Amino acid sequence: MNFKNVIALFLLVSCSQIKMNTSTEKEKAPVKPQPLIDEVVNLKLLNGKVTYSKFTFRKPDGTYVLNCSDKRNRNLLVRDGFGQIYIGANYFAPNTNLNCSFEGQKIFNVNIGEFKYPFETLNVAKGKVDYSPAAIKRIIKEKEIKKKIYLNSADEFLFEKPFIKPLNSFVTSHYGKRRIFNNKKKSQHLGNDLRARTGVKIPAANRGKVVYVGNLFFSGNVVVIDHGMDIFTMYGHLSKILTTKGSIVNQGDIIGLAGATGRVSGPHLHWGVKVNGTWVDGFNLVEVSKEQFNSAK
Ligand SMILES: [Zn+2]
Repeated sequence: MNFKNVIALFLLVSCSQIKMNTSTEKEKAPVKPQPLIDEVVNLKLLNGKVTYSKFTFRKPDGTYVLNCSDKRNRNLLVRDGFGQIYIGANYFAPNTNLNCSFEGQKIFNVNIGEFKYPFETLNVAKGKVDYSPAAIKRIIKEKEIKKKIYLNSADEFLFEKPFIKPLNSFVTSHYGKRRIFNNKKKSQHLGNDLRARTGVKIPAANRGKVVYVGNLFFSGNVVVIDHGMDIFTMYGHLSKILTTKGSIVNQGDIIGLAGATGRVSGPHLHWGVKVNGTWVDGFNLVEVSKEQFNSAK
């Protein structure tokens, strides 16, 4: 350090001391509280897709409940002054806006655009589209069961690495494909179908807690895993379930064997991913979840 710098440093130090003295003298002025966030977080998303966001949120570590414009509460996990959240965009709500607030302050705003999902027209025998009275009864009953499965989720992330696809096989039907049966009945395929022979081992896409095992009319033998923070994965049409409700499974643990149970035309794995109560494209979650762990310290 040369002489000039020493002088400069001396002046700087003495100036700051003078400042400190004056500020203690007029101490009484109230301290302005730091804002909760730097600015409203603006996000862009397409319907059926998911995003991960991390932003300054000046609250002590914990989980905070945000109020959102779609009337659904969302949990924000806060660690070291940063809020973390996964947001799923409803397949049925393209060209809408979703915003969430905390204590009356707007936190983020999501502009949901439209993804052009392909569609196929199918002509099938009448009996395949219309169900028997017994089947209808079962479908209605199971609708209630399915609602309850996804009601409660752990209020922290139960996983420590990005999600993986349960299988790397050929995708026989992609998420979001619209099907029109006999020119009238419409349905949307809100999961990814992965080619799998009966008996192929199915691993968990990430660490989590098994919250449902059972047999359902459409999905056959099913396993549902809660990964926390309102993120669930479901595995359908299994020939065999190899886990139990309440078990903690790690990524890669075998939870069942592929099969053709439920309403299917052949053996495959139906992999569903639900975020914030809405089915999203699981392959998108695989990509997006990498961001969470890339940005980790
Ligand atoms: Zn499927």
